[in-house]
Amino acid sequence: MEMILTGYSVNPVCCNGCGACAAMAPDLFAMDEVSEKPVLLLSEAPLDAVERVMAFCPHDCIETG
Ligand code: SF4
Repeated sequence: MEMILTGYSVNPVCCNGCGACAAMAPDLFAMDEVSEKPVLLLSEAPLDAVERVMAFCPHDCIETG
């Protein structure tokens, strides 16, 4: 099966720093201890993996593309 890659980003304005994204996908996100916001570990990731994390972000802050 072909793997579809997508760019992804976090809207820092709506992110409350809950850490769910980094807990669910530690290969895609890591929490920055200073800003308490997630940082992106990759420029592109498998679309299904990003969509899974998007579904769990409590404020819909994760965007693709
Ligand atoms: S799950 Fe959403 S609100 Fe929580 S840290 Fe990640 S981007 Fe921010």
